[in-house]
Amino acid sequence: MLYFKHKSYKNNRTKRKKMRKGKHEHTCPQCLDKFYSRLKRTNCGDPCKRKFNNEKNRRENAELKIVSDIMKNCRNILKDKFEKYGHTPFPIDELFNAGFDKNVPIVKLRIDENEKEWIKICEFGVFIKSETREVEIIKIK
Ligand SMILES: [Zn+2]
Repeated sequence: MLYFKHKSYKNNRTKRKKMRKGKHEHTCPQCLDKFYSRLKRTNCGDPCKRKFNNEKNRRENAELKIVSDIMKNCRNILKDKFEKYGHTPFPIDELFNAGFDKNVPIVKLRIDENEKEWIKICEFGVFIKSETREVEIIKIK
């Protein structure tokens, strides 16, 4: 019992001593150990820093892959439909039946001389005629 009391007393003293030198108490997000360092440091050491950053990158890349897979799929569908229809409008359901994801990231392109509002998906410009539920595709160079 006395040993434990002594150890914790010593730890508290070390802690106070380190805090006095302008160091801050942190918890390493990787190994969850406590460490004392300057304010901006986030990990206890290089191995934890590497591991933490690798895992962060892996998570971010996984998110990007989801978006890029959606874009690749939609781009292939647009490519197929453009080869089939060229500039002739066709029913929008043909896109959705082929698996086109309406959550694909788009860029609003321009309103042309006929007041058509085009959107850009990869190298394709798409115009959706809402009255007839038809789509027109152009290829952007
Ligand atoms: Zn650590």
